Amino acid sequence: MQDINPGGITIDPVLLPVFELKELTVSMLRLDKLHPVISGNKWFKLRFYLEEAHAQGKKTLLTFGGAWSNHIHATAAACRIHHLDAIGIIRGEEAAELSPTLRQAREMGMQLRFISRGQYREKWIPDDIAISNCLIVGEGGYGKPGAAGAATILDYANPHDYTHICCAMGTGTMLAGIMNRSPATVTCLGISVLKNNPALSGQVRALLANPQQDPVIIPDYHFGGYAKQTPELIQFMNNFYRVTGIPTDFVYTGKLCYAISALAGKNYFPPGSKILLIHSGGLQGNRSLDKGTLIF
Ligand SMILES: *Cc1c(COP(=O)(O)O)cnc(C)c1O
Repeated sequence: MQDINPGGITIDPVLLPVFELKELTVSMLRLDKLHPVISGNKWFKLRFYLEEAHAQGKKTLLTFGGAWSNHIHATAAACRIHHLDAIGIIRGEEAAELSPTLRQAREMGMQLRFISRGQYREKWIPDDIAISNCLIVGEGGYGKPGAAGAATILDYANPHDYTHICCAMGTGTMLAGIMNRSPATVTCLGISVLKNNPALSGQVRALLANPQQDPVIIPDYHFGGYAKQTPELIQFMNNFYRVTGIPTDFVYTGKLCYAISALAGKNYFPPGSKILLIHSGGLQGNRSLDKGTLIF
């Protein structure tokens, strides 16, 4: 497996006509360049869980996810590099043919355990797993160590250089980490990829150094819900790639970029704003789309 390469991270200009028209300077922090398949932000969110496992003398990381989960995939890779065993508790029955995500996770040494959707909702752990040997990491890496790891994303971009920092949100762990590391002058904006998730704001607040802060969450660009997509989104992603040369994923970063360009068109950002978009990776998930859907 190719090594992780933080030195590959760059900040690239995003020169869409709408940004020029509205006098916005937009750039993108390319965490996707960490590795061709390992999801950028998941890598950051896992850092301190890995340290915690070592500190507590745990041999195994156990976590949860679905068949296309970036988090499962990144956990398998991170554990392999850190010489930890990995157990993935997977939502739903084992399919006759594993998704590429799960197949690779297994190839990287992760033990996969399939449980029913009902059991998954309860975050049930099969009885034969010796949980005393395991550090249990929440779904998506949600939690304070996850947010602390996500804060280190800003080791690669100076938040003082921007008026807005924008990222996609699943659990909100990344947004919380970014807020914790940004000065009060910066507006941190989260684009939720889940439909109807009223708990999200509280979830973020629970991870904030200053819980008085109000997370700014834009809920209108989920395109039907988690991992749902529309021809309009796909067309946008293909066009975005043509213009910027930057590939996005349809679950998170495609929706982020669509949302920011739509908000720019609606004059959401004052002229002169300097906007940083976080490319949080996730490109491996595009393999669930039909071949030829995306031009990259
Ligand atoms: C998981 C993920 C997110 C969401 O991160 P949260 O910390 O759960 O909000 C965003 N982008 C990508 C590519 C992801 O894999």
